[in-house]
Amino acid sequence: MVCGYCSTGCGLKVHLKDGQAINLTPTADYPVNLGMACPKGWEALRVLQSDDRATTPMVRNREDGTLRDASWHEAVQLFCDRFKKIQSEHGNDSVAFISTGQIPTEEMAFLGSLAKFGMGMLHGDGNTRQCMATSVVAYKQSFGFDAPPFTYADLEQSDALVFVGANLCIGHPILWQRVLRNKNNPALIVIDPRKTETAMSATEHLAIKPKSDMSLLYGLAKLLIDSGAIDDPFIQKHTNGFEAFREHVQAFPLDRVCIETGISAEQLTRVAKTIANAKRASFWWTMGVNQSYQGVRTAQAIINLALMTGNMGKPGTGANSITGQCNAMGSRLFSNTTNLLGHHEFANPEHREKVASILDIPLGKITTENSWAYDQIVSGIEAGKIKGLWIIATNTAHSWIHSSRARELLSKLDFLVVQDMYFNTHTAQQADLVLPAAGWGEKEGTFINSERRFGVIKRVAKAPGQALSDFSIFRLIADAWGCGDLFSKWTKPEDVFQTMKELSRGQACDISGIENYAALDRHGGIQWPWSSEDAEHNAAPEQERRLFADGRFYHSDGRANFIFAEPEAMPEATCLDYPFVLLTGRGSVSQWHTETRTSKSPVLKSLYPAEAYVEIHPADALRLGIKAGRQVMVKSRRGECVVCASVTSTVQQGQLFMPMHDAKTNLLTLEHVDPYSRQPSYKDCAVTIRPWVGRAKALQS
Ligand code: SF4
Repeated sequence: MVCGYCSTGCGLKVHLKDGQAINLTPTADYPVNLGMACPKGWEALRVLQSDDRATTPMVRNREDGTLRDASWHEAVQLFCDRFKKIQSEHGNDSVAFISTGQIPTEEMAFLGSLAKFGMGMLHGDGNTRQCMATSVVAYKQSFGFDAPPFTYADLEQSDALVFVGANLCIGHPILWQRVLRNKNNPALIVIDPRKTETAMSATEHLAIKPKSDMSLLYGLAKLLIDSGAIDDPFIQKHTNGFEAFREHVQAFPLDRVCIETGISAEQLTRVAKTIANAKRASFWWTMGVNQSYQGVRTAQAIINLALMTGNMGKPGTGANSITGQCNAMGSRLFSNTTNLLGHHEFANPEHREKVASILDIPLGKITTENSWAYDQIVSGIEAGKIKGLWIIATNTAHSWIHSSRARELLSKLDFLVVQDMYFNTHTAQQADLVLPAAGWGEKEGTFINSERRFGVIKRVAKAPGQALSDFSIFRLIADAWGCGDLFSKWTKPEDVFQTMKELSRGQACDISGIENYAALDRHGGIQWPWSSEDAEHNAAPEQERRLFADGRFYHSDGRANFIFAEPEAMPEATCLDYPFVLLTGRGSVSQWHTETRTSKSPVLKSLYPAEAYVEIHPADALRLGIKAGRQVMVKSRRGECVVCASVTSTVQQGQLFMPMHDAKTNLLTLEHVDPYSRQPSYKDCAVTIRPWVGRAKALQS
């Protein structure tokens, strides 16, 4: 079965005794990881055993703030009574849900269907808004569908790999192993303000000024155009808008780009030549691009480079967004949040009819309006429009940008339900009702990894106490709410999978040819698309398939679009009071997001610093009297925290870096989003830092 942390989607072989998991090893012949796993994967079973597991439903006494155990009957009844009361007083859209990229696709589809078609909610989004929304919108606008084109073999087949805001060594360590298997002695070009572990291994590290990546990418495009290093036949035959793009990048001559990015003309020219000379160049990005206030246009600046050089649809090429969570891709297609099930449109009458007919539900159950995005739901609480919230397998109070505001707003809700494996996450601590959920390894379903590969997870361990799979919780709620009949066909996850196949039919993500879970097991996972026609005409799916080999994209004219914009300044510029730019990101291979799981493994904990820390350049530290290992106060306009100083030249002068895993980091971040994807921009806010000798304040978590 596949791992339940990151989107790499490694295969793990779980060893059983008396039907229960006792150990695991990476699957040697799984096409993703080829027998490798990172520490999180190796420790995946350990984190299931923890005293912090939620083992019974819990109800908060609002008088004294304590939680008491409750039966499932009482919990589900309370859930229905409170949310129905709120809806009857304030309208159906006053209750919303926040979903996740951490549960199987089938559970996402059930949740989205139950909430919107069964309970009449209008607004629901997922924590994938925090990691992947930018890529979704960029691909849709450029290619006509949210379609990451690559397969992991491309990492081994390129002559030049360009990583933009992507620290594979830490974020996707097994994909980095795939890079190391590349026998072409490839050029590794890393574009990142910080000297990350990946940048340290690069042949070229472009240590740009924060948020100057658009200027850099346009500057590279101009250099490539000026030197004739473009694939004119590909551009003419398969794209729209290149002439306007050519015109646009004329405004990015070397002198402007050097000033804006801090990169020398020599290095820029050298990198452009490397890309031009590569037979197969591939372009990869992750959160450094996605979590940006101009993320969509930055991602499209990367896509433009791949399109104009004809690096698309061939081995070792592509404009490739690497996803974050194990099932962010499932959320993108089937969560029924901002897209209608199967990546359809709520506003499209034909799409609504198709979905209603496949689900066999009244057409009127499907809303014609798009949901609010995560940030709009949060602001909806402030505006008094959202009164009830159901949060599933995510930790809003820790991970949402400017988290002190998020926490304050959560506390204003009339009713907050948190459904999670652990009863004491930052968000669960604010819940009125905690529903105990089974985790990875305790239930079944499918995940979709970054290269569009469906893989299966299985039940190899018993959930503790009365914890239930999210699927079973949704079933209980549907029946108690009185809408269980709408989903009567869904008695187990594989029933939902069969519905998903029908929903996908005719879409770019068509999986109608995947027979069942057993077929996924047999073939080492199957990438979408795999339609019934594909299955009819082929003995078996090839293990590695990429999109656009025929140059046909998903827009109605079959072409990809060049899309671009003028770079904008950071919304919160540094100043005398707040002279540093705060960068955020992953800390180590052994940590995952808000650490609700990874902190439960003693092995993983031993592999990363015990204390939260901030990286500061030695020259800045010297100037401010900051010593390595000593406490410092980091402060923004929104909050402050005390952490340990790590004096290192991985950051440039005037920049600080804090890992996102500690809840302190988001006390500082500035809430602002990309206008197209509404993804928060976590990596650019102004802060100040000074030595700290006093006691930590209550504001810290
Ligand atoms: Fe799991 Fe990702 Fe590690 Fe693979 S790289 S073992 S999928 S966490």
